[in-house]
Amino acid sequence: MAKILILGGGFGGVVAAERLAEQLGDEHQITLVSRSRNFVFYPGLVRLAFGKCQREDVSFNLRESMLNRRVNFIEAEVARVDPLEHKVIIAHGEVEGKLHYDYLVFALGRRLATERVRGFYEHAHHLLNVDKALKFGNAISRFHEGRAVIGQCPNARMPVPVYETAFALARLLEERGERDRVRITIVGPEPLGLQFGDSEVATALQNALNSQDIEFLSGFPIDRVTSDAVMTSNGRAINYNLLMLLPPFQGSPAILHLGISDDAYINVDSAMRVLGAERMYAVGDCVNFGGPKMGHMAVRQAVVAAANLEAEIEGHAPVSHYSHEMRTIIDASGSDSIYLHKDIWTNEPASVRQGRFWSWAKRVQGKYWETVYA
Ligand SMILES: Cc1cc2nc3c(=O)[nH]c(=O)nc-3n(C[C@H](O)[C@H](O)[C@H](O)COP(=O)(O)OP(=O)(O)OC[C@H]3O[C@@H](n4cnc5c(N)ncnc54)[C@H](O)[C@@H]3O)c2cc1C
Repeated sequence: MAKILILGGGFGGVVAAERLAEQLGDEHQITLVSRSRNFVFYPGLVRLAFGKCQREDVSFNLRESMLNRRVNFIEAEVARVDPLEHKVIIAHGEVEGKLHYDYLVFALGRRLATERVRGFYEHAHHLLNVDKALKFGNAISRFHEGRAVIGQCPNARMPVPVYETAFALARLLEERGERDRVRITIVGPEPLGLQFGDSEVATALQNALNSQDIEFLSGFPIDRVTSDAVMTSNGRAINYNLLMLLPPFQGSPAILHLGISDDAYINVDSAMRVLGAERMYAVGDCVNFGGPKMGHMAVRQAVVAAANLEAEIEGHAPVSHYSHEMRTIIDASGSDSIYLHKDIWTNEPASVRQGRFWSWAKRVQGKYWETVYA
């Protein structure tokens, strides 16, 4: 019998748990540990902020969902991992002390390093949890004129919600008859092409931004926020009346002491095995792969890790390998919506499609998660 511990109840952890429960016999024990009993469907948070759906549409109870799949669920905060002793140290929660494992799947996502931008915590809205998205939604409902600044701080690595917020705001202001009273500016450290690593994607996005009169300012590495302005490390500043920023990201601090990571992002091979640790896999935003961080990547990594963990238990070499592809929809609330597919490792030109269909497809994707996992 093997004890398998999965850390993190997000896209990566949930899919790894589901796959392992399907693949392994009943003699093995699978436990998922996460700090919250709720799964959050992050791609739905822009719609939540704009009042297009409710809290219960973007979140569901993980404990019930895991029980149906014979996975034990523990609500607890992970402090750190001790790979030599095969133990996870719990800071607080439903259990205390240490949890033993034979195999570990690490899926703790990203840490928001808000402390790296002075004034971020006090003045900026963000969209990286349900409560903050709702708070941003309140600010949007009070905003009628001036300048909206939306962007990514250095190392945020999540461009999709930035563009979707700008498009959704333009659409809302249009519906209210207030579009000509608001200037919408997207800011970020990199040019458009670099954010998605592809010139065709950049052209499609730039056309969509132009058609909705949204300006894009690159070379804008934010390092300070005040109550009415954002400032950069290279001396630029712009004033705002509404501000939504994605803060800098970092990997999970729970492995920082082990020397197996880079800015706390864990080094793994294409079988999703952690380099420098035994019987340990890592999936999702916490791994040290280049390019943007995305939910569908976490899902595909979890499928690969589950297949290889099963093979390892049976004494076999890895049977599955991950390829780092980006497949995403940028919902521009209508016919400007973009679907893109790019293989990041081979860097072949992306395949890009555009049309109203993709806006609809993104909403269906959310419904799919709710139906399958809730
Ligand atoms: C607003 C927004 C929109 C997005 N849109 C898209 C999109 O359109 N398409 C796309 O592909 N991706 C999108 N993403 C990115 C996607 O949501 C992430 O890539 C995905 O959530 C990563 O999954 P994960 O399992 O690695 O991490 P997460 O989903 O963040 O899960 C991590 C889990 O670990 C838990 N945890 C963290 N630390 C601890 C600890 N110390 N102890 C216990 N538990 C802990 C958390 O509570 C969470 O349950 C979006 C993200 C946001 C924020």
